[in-house]
Amino acid sequence: MRTGNLFVISGPSGAGKGTLVARLLEEVPDAWVSVSATTRLPRPGEKEGVSYFFLDKQEFLDQAAQGMMLEYAEYVGNCYGTPLASVQREMAAGRQVILEIEVQGALQVKEKMPEAHLVFIEPPSLEELERRLRGRGTETDDVVRKRMDTALVELSHKMEYDIRLVNDNLGEAVAQLVAYVNETAEQK
Ligand code: 5GP
Repeated sequence: MRTGNLFVISGPSGAGKGTLVARLLEEVPDAWVSVSATTRLPRPGEKEGVSYFFLDKQEFLDQAAQGMMLEYAEYVGNCYGTPLASVQREMAAGRQVILEIEVQGALQVKEKMPEAHLVFIEPPSLEELERRLRGRGTETDDVVRKRMDTALVELSHKMEYDIRLVNDNLGEAVAQLVAYVNETAEQK
């Protein structure tokens, strides 16, 4: 059995993290992706316990205060956090644990668990990023603007990550991510 590693994947909203992580799960059988808690409302099609654990603000803050989150952060007005217990359980079971989280949370993880591997997903350009965010059609203009502002802040942290992948060609980005996860898992 391969040892469990922790991979943290960040990048601006619209950089394609979700698609990349879904493809990674198909290609790496022992990969497991953490389900986060959030105070954001569900988008159409999102399911409780699958997309996120949807909590109200008080429940979220209570869980955080009880030390139940590995990390948590506020992002465009909502709280997001990683439940600690399931990450510990899956790492102990030898899985390659994947967190798809924003930059402040990623840096908290690096501080608590320096052995974590941080991967930053870059969009090909800011124009392309905005086009993808608008194309999603689920976000208001105001939210798109806030997500673009946040993207600039996130991009300014990319050098704090262990590797950076540009998601220009999806197939190539998937191959690079899969290779990184497998190489890291074999090295231990
Ligand atoms: P969205 O609202 O689009 O689902 O997510 C917004 C941002 O929150 C994304 O960058 C996503 O990666 C991040 N995020 C999702 N779950 C977590 C989490 O548990 N912790 C942190 N810090 N960020 C998260």
